[in-house]
Amino acid sequence: MPGDARLTEAGRSVRRSARPAAPQRTCVGCRVRDDRSRLLRVVAEPGPATEVALVPDPRGRLPGRGAWLHPDLDCLDLAERRRAFARALRLQGPVDTAAVREHLATAGGTQGR
Ligand SMILES: [Zn+2]
Repeated sequence: MPGDARLTEAGRSVRRSARPAAPQRTCVGCRVRDDRSRLLRVVAEPGPATEVALVPDPRGRLPGRGAWLHPDLDCLDLAERRRAFARALRLQGPVDTAAVREHLATAGGTQGR
């Protein structure tokens, strides 16, 4: 067991895998690169008000610009605190993450398929 090797934020991106084919994305919360299949895609959906609602896109089918997030409430919190969604999705103003939060809560923290 390598144990907890998270010493630096940048250090983790150097991981080598036997399968380099898997596309990588960066989580907007913890900023760790991971396999695309392990991350949840989130897209912005313009709401009736000025507030933009984020919606989870587990199948990766929704059009538009997407942000990638670990299906983890910690990462969601981090992303919110940093306003990472607004930055990743080029949004201005408040962003409503309730739908994503609910999605993660429903998934129970496990990796749904
Ligand atoms: Zn993350």
